[in-house]
Amino acid sequence: MAKKILVVEDEISIADNITYALSTEGFESIYCATGKEALEIIKNKDIAIAIVDIGLPDINGFDLVRQIRKNSSVPIIFVTARSDEIDRIVGLEIGADDYITKPFSPRELTARVRAVLRRTSNEMNKSAESGNVPHTHFQLDEKRLVISYHGKPLDLSRYEFKLLSVFVRNPGRVYSREQLMSLVWEEPEMSLDRTVDTHIKTIRQKLKSIRPAEEPIVTHRGLGYSLKESS
Ligand code: CA
Repeated sequence: MAKKILVVEDEISIADNITYALSTEGFESIYCATGKEALEIIKNKDIAIAIVDIGLPDINGFDLVRQIRKNSSVPIIFVTARSDEIDRIVGLEIGADDYITKPFSPRELTARVRAVLRRTSNEMNKSAESGNVPHTHFQLDEKRLVISYHGKPLDLSRYEFKLLSVFVRNPGRVYSREQLMSLVWEEPEMSLDRTVDTHIKTIRQKLKSIRPAEEPIVTHRGLGYSLKESS
């Protein structure tokens, strides 16, 4: 499954160079020239990284990233030609993961993209591996591979167990289907996004059979799935 990279850049020649460089490394890129389009695309597609030019025609890149951050934690790489902009990126907590200065070589760009992807997926794995279960109605027994809910052990398949473990360790955190695939499935490229939905559905049914009155505990939040924090 090729990772989708969003390129937000109004200068066509630069955008062409970026998308070409990404394609040679096996990334699929989606291109747009305005912040408005970028917000739409991030809302509707599973974007692995957004590469954002700071000087856009309708909004500046800083404001765009602030808007993106209201709903999405997609990694962001800024593109800039100006040193005063670099100062802002570095000095302020704008929520970008990296930046690249014009002019840049295709190799430099793809190296940045790979590094950011590696870093963000490591962080995700780390938080999924830490044994701490925050305060919920779930208990995770890693040695016996059992998850209990309200004290009752759940009868889960292997993938259901692995999926629910990710949520139980990180309640409230939203995972896209693609992230769940790569965290849980051994050969994510062999499976379909729909597989995640199917397993979530059966997990919900099993949780509901224990607490029928409650709304689904694993919720869909537009961006992906998360475990609703229990009160
Ligand atoms: Ca520009």
